[in-house]
Amino acid sequence: MVLNSTIPDALTELYAGTDFSSLNWFEHQWVAWYIWIGNPIIATGLASFLLHEIVYFGRSIPWIIIDAIPYFRQWKLQPAKVPTPAEQWACTKQVLFSHFTIELPAIWLFHPTAEGLGMQTYQVPFPSFKTMAPQIFLFFFFEDFFHFVAHQALHTGVLYKHIHKIHHKYSAPFGLAAEYAHPAEVFILGTGTILGPLMYCYFTQNLHIITVYIWIVLRLFQAIDAHSGYDFPWSLHNVLPFWSGAEHHDFHHMAFTNNFSTSFRWWDRIFGTDDKYREYRARVEASKKAMKNATKEQKLEMEQKLMAEIEAEGIRAEAAAEARGLMGGKAKVQ
Ligand SMILES: [Zn+2]
Ligand SMILES: [Zn+2]
Repeated sequence: MVLNSTIPDALTELYAGTDFSSLNWFEHQWVAWYIWIGNPIIATGLASFLLHEIVYFGRSIPWIIIDAIPYFRQWKLQPAKVPTPAEQWACTKQVLFSHFTIELPAIWLFHPTAEGLGMQTYQVPFPSFKTMAPQIFLFFFFEDFFHFVAHQALHTGVLYKHIHKIHHKYSAPFGLAAEYAHPAEVFILGTGTILGPLMYCYFTQNLHIITVYIWIVLRLFQAIDAHSGYDFPWSLHNVLPFWSGAEHHDFHHMAFTNNFSTSFRWWDRIFGTDDKYREYRARVEASKKAMKNATKEQKLEMEQKLMAEIEAEGIRAEAAAEARGLMGGKAKVQ
């Protein structure tokens, strides 16, 4: 069906010996894509770039709509800070700029690197769900720990001042702001997403790029949702208590400190980098209990007051982090 006389010889060779009758619909499309493009390096590069763009902006659209509907404000973590359309557009332009100027020129290296390490790319059939699921969990685990360490490094002195400060422009983030960051940060933290699969592939010689794509889609959902600014009763962390979600990362942006991981809460818990966050949650809960008979407005006002305190503390902590960087710089000069 897919293979016919118009297929270039080189690609016929790629698929020599493949039993096309046993393939499912997705696998047929996969083959058709590689044959249509006619060059595996371009086919993989283009697919990777398009996947990123479609998923990133596609997943951000529901959050843009939710921000525009006041009904959803009841679940907004920082309800007084709803991003304006102008802010969202400015952020979108910046993200698009870095996608086209940094990611697009570099993405053509992906296919040669992946193939060089033994990753399957154009090949079919795809691995089974049983093969993919534990691999994807490993990538989640690796990325989360990598991010936990690298993100804390980005909060120190010079690295903060010159790199990570850009991502902290929004003390109340929104979906589109997930990748709003300095190019060096995109590179450093992006390493956590891609290094896991590359190392796994190198050591096991058993990884298909479709598994990497599924991982990247899930990772994008994780990052965008964690920046959404909303905590719904049906949000994943309410089902899986160790999942970070927006409720965890929103605090990082508001308080400047604590909660450095991406997907899971366990490292911040083990290393105590969630102490302020837990104290804050306990204070909110205690105040809510004490104000049991108060009106909704009064409770909201109390929460706003606690948030303002945390944010003021965060601004002082940010200034201190930058000052440490300046002193470090002076020390080096002497
Ligand atoms: Zn940070
Ligand atoms: Zn963030």
